[in-house]
This record gives sequence, C-alpha cells and structure tokens, in this order.
Amino acid sequence: MSYYVFHATPHDRARIHKGSCARCRNGRGPENQEEPDPEAWSPPMGTLAEAVAYIELEFPCIDDAIKCPYCLGAGD
Ligand SMILES: [Zn+2]
Repeated sequence: MSYYVFHATPHDRARIHKGSCARCRNGRGPENQEEPDPEAWSPPMGTLAEAVAYIELEFPCIDDAIKCPYCLGAGD
C-alpha cells in the first residue's frame, strides 16, 4: 500500500490518498479527469506518517491538509 499527496497550490490545499483510491489511482488522478496534472501528485509514500511529513516539509504554508474522506476517512 502506497500513499500519495495531492496538492492544489492555487487553493493551498493538500489531500492524502491511498494509491488504491479512485480519486488517486496511484498518482494519476480521477479517471474522468481530462488533463491529469503530474505536478499535483507526490511520489508514492510508504506510510501515512511519511505523507504527513511530506506535506509539512514541502508545503509548510498549507493549513488545509487533510486525509481524503473517501479512502482514509473511516478511522484507518
Ligand atoms: Zn482518496
């Protein structure tokens, strides 16, 4: 299981997804997305803690960094 960070710089938002999430698809984005943005996805992370640390390191200004409610919302 890998984790990925999606960051939308213009909106100052970051989301952590599991690679298996339909909205992540191992960093390729949602299936219906017309123009996937490779810049928007982090490299694969081995653990959730690693993904959180990645956000803190790479995007220290982002306040709105949360887990994806679809793949990581139910406890985990
Ligand atoms: Zn997700």
